[in-house]
Amino acid sequence: MDTPDYLDCKPVTALEREAAIALGACLQKLKWPGDRFPVELRFNFEITRAGSSALKVTRTTAPIAGSAKVGFNHWYLVSKPADFFRFVIPAEAAQVDLQRRAMEEGRIVPDYGSEWARTYSGITDAPPQSPAELQERFDNRPLRLMKKQIPVRCDCPLPAGFQVYGGKPEKLDAGEAACRECGGKLRRAGEADYPPTISQSMAYLRHAVSRTGARGR
Ligand SMILES: [Zn+2]
Repeated sequence: MDTPDYLDCKPVTALEREAAIALGACLQKLKWPGDRFPVELRFNFEITRAGSSALKVTRTTAPIAGSAKVGFNHWYLVSKPADFFRFVIPAEAAQVDLQRRAMEEGRIVPDYGSEWARTYSGITDAPPQSPAELQERFDNRPLRLMKKQIPVRCDCPLPAGFQVYGGKPEKLDAGEAACRECGGKLRRAGEADYPPTISQSMAYLRHAVSRTGARGR
């Protein structure tokens, strides 16, 4: 198996390569017009999104032409590959294809609605997931720590009682930030408080980010 010629990707790991092949297979099923819309796939470490996509149009007269950019979250891919392949890859392929078709037809680009769900169901048997449902499948705490958000503890048992705080530090230090689950005050924590899974994730991410920084991802 290989990727279609119109899909430009620079996978570094075997899993990234597999993800690129899976995206290519979804686009092929959608009969993606790669001659008019080459696709660039890149891997990132965003906090909030498992996948993202954007279209650019360079020729507005029919048949329109341009390019598409797809971003896959490297951390979500490696931390839960089964969910990533099952849900994220077809969801993003359907989304970018829907955007393109809407542009070709000169209408407003719809977002994750019924038309998206139909497109998605045409390429996979997996049940459609809203962006919020997708997000809940993945643990973004390690990514948030990498972005220098603040590790905190609450009264919930571990590992859920270890959280990452993204609000104003003054509010946290004034004791005004509380856990939505237990209602307990959020208290600053240190690396010694990291649950083992978080420590392992951070070790992986520090290595992966230093490596990918060097290749300008
Ligand atoms: Zn709590």
